Amino acid sequence: MNSPANTPDSAVNVAENLTRLQARIATAAKESGRAAEAVQLIAVSKTKPLSLVQAAVAAGHACFGENYAQELADKAEQQAAEWHFIGPLQSNKVKLVANAASWVHSIDRLKTAQRLSSMRDPALSPLNVCLQVNISAEPQKAGVQVEEVEALLAQVSALPRLRLRGLMCIPAPDDTNAFARMAALAADLRAKGFELDVLSMGMSRDFESAILAGATHVRIGTAIFGSRQ
Ligand SMILES: *Cc1c(COP(=O)(O)O)cnc(C)c1O
Repeated sequence: MNSPANTPDSAVNVAENLTRLQARIATAAKESGRAAEAVQLIAVSKTKPLSLVQAAVAAGHACFGENYAQELADKAEQQAAEWHFIGPLQSNKVKLVANAASWVHSIDRLKTAQRLSSMRDPALSPLNVCLQVNISAEPQKAGVQVEEVEALLAQVSALPRLRLRGLMCIPAPDDTNAFARMAALAADLRAKGFELDVLSMGMSRDFESAILAGATHVRIGTAIFGSRQ
């Protein structure tokens, strides 16, 4: 990873960081036996100003991730792009992302999924969703426990305005084979008939190992936009 510690926003070269990252993503994808296009880069712009989002758009990148519902809604209103919601989603914030986002990666409760489905504008295509898995079984962490994934998948896949795509995780830093377990879990669920084409895993510090394990979507903030306060 490059060393963006305490770099002011104005000094971050978003275009250069994106070019360097896409090259690393392409290399890791090829090592995993896939084309570069098989791995989608989600540029995580949380807490960063719209000017940096616009710098990425000017460089040809228009796929962003946000953690805070209000921040996603505000940025999406000002910049057309493919917006991915990746943070914890409280029921009372669902309305902010149901139509502003194209994707929600962090479903871990049926109630949130039901609200998203009922609030999604029928004129829009169905909202793409992933279930967040607490793959390292950390107490007090977001995500469904591994044993509960199948039951929730079955319920979420029945909701009309959602399109269930796959699984997402944020492993514990010392959990070295978490990505492999995610891939195995997804394969197991596919064998049971679930159509899952997405594994959303890997951040600035670990995206290459995530891709080698089969990630289709990597969520990268710091290595593109610099460190966050
Ligand atoms: C912040 C965040 C990221 C990006 O993290 P970096 O280390 O800055 O690349 C990815 N996924 C989620 C869910 C996040 O909250």
